[in-house]
Amino acid sequence: MAPRAAPYLDDLNPAQRRAVEALDGPVLMLAGAGTGKTKALTARIAHLMMTGRARPNEILAVTFTNKAAREMKERVGRLLGQTVEGMPWLGTFHAICVKLLRRHAELVGLKSSFTILDTDDQLRLLKQLIVAENIDEKRWPPRQLASIIDGWKNRAWTPESVPASEAGAFNHRGSELYAQYQERLKTLNAVDFGDLLLHMLTIFRTHSDVLAQYQRWFRYILVDEYQDTNVAQYLWLRLLAQEHRNVCCVGDDDQSIYGWRGAEVGNILRFEKDFPGAEIVRLEQNYRSTPHILAAASGVIAANEGRLGKTLWTAEEAGEKLRLIGHWDGEEEARWIGEEIEALGRGTRGLRKVGLDEIAILVRASHQMRSFEDRFLTIGLPYRVIGGPRFYERMEIRDAMAYLRLAVGPDDDLAFERIVNTPKRGLGDKAQQAIQRSARENGTTLVDGARILLAEKGLGGRGATELRALVDAIGRWNDAVRSGAPHVELAERILDESGYTGHWQNDKTPEAPGRLENLKELVKALESFENLQGFLEHVALVMDNAGESDGAKVSIMTLHAAKGLEFPAVFLPGWEDGLFPSQRSMDESGLKGLEEERRLAYVGITRAEELATVSFAANRRVYGQWQSALPSRFIDELPADHVDVLTPPGLYGGGYGAAGMAASASPAIVAAASSDLHDRAAEANVYNSPGWRRLQARAADRPVSQPREARQMVIDGSAVSAFAVGDRVFHTKFGYGGVVGVEGDKLEIAFDKAGTKKIVGKFVVPAQN
Ligand code: ATP
Ligand code: MG
Repeated sequence: MAPRAAPYLDDLNPAQRRAVEALDGPVLMLAGAGTGKTKALTARIAHLMMTGRARPNEILAVTFTNKAAREMKERVGRLLGQTVEGMPWLGTFHAICVKLLRRHAELVGLKSSFTILDTDDQLRLLKQLIVAENIDEKRWPPRQLASIIDGWKNRAWTPESVPASEAGAFNHRGSELYAQYQERLKTLNAVDFGDLLLHMLTIFRTHSDVLAQYQRWFRYILVDEYQDTNVAQYLWLRLLAQEHRNVCCVGDDDQSIYGWRGAEVGNILRFEKDFPGAEIVRLEQNYRSTPHILAAASGVIAANEGRLGKTLWTAEEAGEKLRLIGHWDGEEEARWIGEEIEALGRGTRGLRKVGLDEIAILVRASHQMRSFEDRFLTIGLPYRVIGGPRFYERMEIRDAMAYLRLAVGPDDDLAFERIVNTPKRGLGDKAQQAIQRSARENGTTLVDGARILLAEKGLGGRGATELRALVDAIGRWNDAVRSGAPHVELAERILDESGYTGHWQNDKTPEAPGRLENLKELVKALESFENLQGFLEHVALVMDNAGESDGAKVSIMTLHAAKGLEFPAVFLPGWEDGLFPSQRSMDESGLKGLEEERRLAYVGITRAEELATVSFAANRRVYGQWQSALPSRFIDELPADHVDVLTPPGLYGGGYGAAGMAASASPAIVAAASSDLHDRAAEANVYNSPGWRRLQARAADRPVSQPREARQMVIDGSAVSAFAVGDRVFHTKFGYGGVVGVEGDKLEIAFDKAGTKKIVGKFVVPAQN
């Protein structure tokens, strides 16, 4: 059937259109950021359906994040002018493989109800193995073993196929422990993330009938962000595509940023060899960013040696130069960005009004997020954190999830281990060992082991009573799940009956209320799922938690999580040597790590459509330690013609914009040496730090500064409160109130609505009313 109306083809350029219409045979789209690769890939899916080449369920489309998958699904629907009935095989490698593995689990010795371990479970398991082998876990930490095993899985090595060259790994015990770990997983009917793909690869390799079935089934294969596939993913794709060769991969070697996780940019370079006669489409027009932004990004990436090199141009108007600003420390950087975001929203930067949804802050390391979160909470600026340490990784959420996991699968021993004495039930190490022993001797799950132990009266006292209550409750929850009881109420009941909610209600630590809030949030999250099982699966797979969706919010995320996304205004804080590029990449011999960091810088800048702002701080607290820092070497690589250097404005007024200074060859230095930093360096006497010395040495003609008394309060005000009794203040959660007491950095505040509370001073702002 010829497409009657295909509006999705009309807004493509000729090269994109070629990539979309070349439906048969291999296609590789290799092009720079913002050239419309993802757009073309999406149009190709629509075209496959529109022309009747494939039904939605015959298309295998791999995206890098769950969020990207959702967006692609929506866009295909929009292009076709209808909601797409299922596209079951559009998702991340993990999401697709978990579905496949459920169907064929028995071929690798698992049951289809297998659990997916999270990192915590994985570490606990590895620790058990290490301890059992009498290996000193201090010298040989489980985390290290986990990363070795992950690396092997990424390379598609099973315990049997780990090459001899790896024999020295983990004090020569690596591959043996890997084998034990896999055995243990099998007994637990569990897999880790790496297994999802590895098991499917094993199945495809050992069961040609299964492979053939899927080769027929997935008639068209599409892969976005192909430069970041690892060896296992690559082999998996190649197996599926080798018969019909209807495979379309898109990527950009300059955006390969997952080498540390086993991604092989070589996969993209090998494509032509693997699929001879492939149509190679190059896209050169960037539709995303203004010329200044594009030129700044291109200037940075040009310093990399091992790259294919691509032309990029844009028809946009010149727009704003990339803005660069230096700050005293990370807190000030956060404060400035907060103010800047508000100013952008009011349109007071000489630009159009920029909404919160249009703004992203992209950090190199997730610990940078905290200062932004704190600051934004203080000033009431709505934000969402995408990726990074997430909701589902919080302790109380993990505990609650363990209960839910047990309700769904009483054979989930890891979940049982986690909660058997949480909350405290008087079941110490001894009692837990007795349960383990009973389970082992009887060849049962821990829950059944506990039942037998109780029946045999192998346990006494309070522990026995509590344990009985727990196993009985688990039995009731299992029945409830089986009989299809409404899952939201059930979850609430489970948290109550287990005593877990009560445990936090009785807890007097300052964190307890927040934890209860989170538990409520968890139950709320359940509502959008059909049942507990679906929810648990979802959580296991949420790699890119997008946060709640209502209301405009600034997005905060890591540079890694920002891949493929775009925002009108992007803030890129923390451009300091040791943070970005990371210390590790700088310590490494060779350029590999550093070049990957530079690609990350390129990814960061190219996310911006209209405004990109790079910043750095002269001092930063990393894991509780103050460190002075040098501006990132990437700043020196920014082409000066495309950069505006801003003067740090200071908290209470101060200059804005110092475009004239940008003429200097190294704009970083101008900003770093600006008045404000200089003043405060004197105050804090950091003149002896190596970072400051380098700044000084390179900033010959420093502008003379004006004193800024007001901010002194902030600098050395670590314990001195800026507030006095009688002051009016505002707190984002509790609203307005009056200070009735001051105690170091804590304030006692009588809130108009919320009563009297003790609050750390930095969490409130002065109020006028
Ligand atoms: P990245 O490498 O960052 O993933 P990409 O190559 O996938 O980028 P897209 O995200 O597909 O690029 O497109 C970038 C922007 O350009 C999007 O806003 C998209 O809608 C727009 N765009 C792409 N192609 C065209 C076109 N032919 N005409 C107009 N706009 C386009
Ligand atoms: Mg893309």
